Amino acid sequence: MSARILVVDDLEANRRLLEAMLTADYYEVMMATRGEEGVQLAKREKPDLILMDVMMPGGIDGYEACRRLKSMPETRHIPVVILTTLDDRDNRVRGLQSGAEEFLTKPIDDVQLMARVKSLLTLKVVTDELRAREASSRRLGLIPDDTRPDAVDQHRVFAGNVLLVDDNPTQIKRIQTALGVEHRVSLIGEDAGGPPDLAVISVHAKSFDGFRVIARMRSGEATRHLPVLAIVDPDDRKQALRALELGAHDIILRPIDEEEIIARARTLMRRKRYMDALRQRLDQSLELAVTDQLTGLYNRRFLDTQLEPLVHRAQCGGDPVSVMTIDIDHFKRCNDTFGHDVGDAVLREFAARLASNTRPSDYACRHGGEEFIVVMPRTTGDIACLAAERLRRAIAGSAFIIPGLAQPLDVTISIGVASTEGADETQESILKRADEALYEAKRGGRNRIVGRTAKDAA
Ligand SMILES: [Mg+2]
Repeated sequence: MSARILVVDDLEANRRLLEAMLTADYYEVMMATRGEEGVQLAKREKPDLILMDVMMPGGIDGYEACRRLKSMPETRHIPVVILTTLDDRDNRVRGLQSGAEEFLTKPIDDVQLMARVKSLLTLKVVTDELRAREASSRRLGLIPDDTRPDAVDQHRVFAGNVLLVDDNPTQIKRIQTALGVEHRVSLIGEDAGGPPDLAVISVHAKSFDGFRVIARMRSGEATRHLPVLAIVDPDDRKQALRALELGAHDIILRPIDEEEIIARARTLMRRKRYMDALRQRLDQSLELAVTDQLTGLYNRRFLDTQLEPLVHRAQCGGDPVSVMTIDIDHFKRCNDTFGHDVGDAVLREFAARLASNTRPSDYACRHGGEEFIVVMPRTTGDIACLAAERLRRAIAGSAFIIPGLAQPLDVTISIGVASTEGADETQESILKRADEALYEAKRGGRNRIVGRTAKDAA
């Protein structure tokens, strides 16, 4: 994975060392020597990751730089790794509280650095993808502008469910005490009162294989997005690396430092809420965007995005595409006689029969009012006419039972069929021919289908 990394450190020796490590793994490196300079560079260049020294003489220090980055919408999603000196506990905790995702202690261990960088960058790729998709949905007006994902406050504390997988009683007690203040902590088998928001897993446990637990969580459908914090031995580099490789989002060394685990849990919990919110809004907006609310069929917007590429492909020598334009006969009369509720029920019943009389590869859309369009990929005009006739019979063959209406209602439809022909075909031209065919079916007495190809039209 190639990515751009910003290194902010006042000492040239440190910068050179980090640059050498990162470029050896083909990362693109940019450098700043002061906090302010780092913030400006991050704003302008939008790196994928920032490595931030704490102590920098003159101007703002690493914490303040991190706080500023995390307070601006344009940079707050960029992960920041704080670089502290060995065993400087206060610095570590302050770093995480300033919003940094991660810290590394100097002297920097190159293997740990790579594992952390890779893990943070993987996460960022996912977040960026979600952000980009949401941004485009917003441009199309599918999501109101006031529900920005950035509304998820970078410093807000989210209370959540923590699943603790551990077998060391002293450690369990310590973690429960630390995390219990903000979250609900439960062990496996205990009632958690809901799905977990974070899993804390010990990989040095004696009674179970913590690595296997991590691997299983990362591959399970229900737990795939669950953040994992692995507890590892301080002197076992391999253990930490293996946990990260298997997909742990973060690691914490034994013995557990209470302040540190609180800060790490906050960061992971916040990140999960952020991703969940994005994912949920995206699902909603996509579904709303392509579905007709009354009938559950696809809507016109969906039709417009699907038909054009299919027609284009057919025109370039690909499979033919057919479309049916369908109109419910005398629908206005039905609405006027029985009211709009009955009219809506007729539309829903028709939609249900339409859906069960089209193939899974067809797209059934409500085009507006009582007009429907079925797009049939890889279908010739002949086959489409057969399908149209079958649909016509499925509607006219048995009367509609409408709730609240004493009599079953006889409903019929008229259908116009057209299929792609020739090199000049466009979405407009094929829909126009189908419309003309439909008009002909109406004129011819309704309850019938008319097929029209490009040859007929010429
Ligand atoms: Mg320094």
